[in-house]
Amino acid sequence: MNLEKDLIRIGVHELIELIGMKDVKIDQETCIGCGACESICPEVFVLNAQAESTVVEEYRTEDEDEGEVPDDIDCVEDAEDGCPVDAISVS
Ligand code: SF4
Repeated sequence: MNLEKDLIRIGVHELIELIGMKDVKIDQETCIGCGACESICPEVFVLNAQAESTVVEEYRTEDEDEGEVPDDIDCVEDAEDGCPVDAISVS
């Protein structure tokens, strides 16, 4: 077995399965559109045209207010902690 060649053959989805994922949910009714999450963790959060926080398309599951994010993106918890109205849940 050649580990280097095997790793190159692994697709993005298989790699994500190996890394593990965490769920992110935004309560857009509670969100006040301050933009803190987008500033703290732009890899995951972006404001929409209504100034509501959303999950970026790359990690979105169905609706714009929820998604799955690789475990190694630590800024998600920082954004959860930094939200002034506790509109972000990470599990
Ligand atoms: S930090 Fe909280 S209130 Fe501010 S935009 Fe993000 S989800 Fe909305």
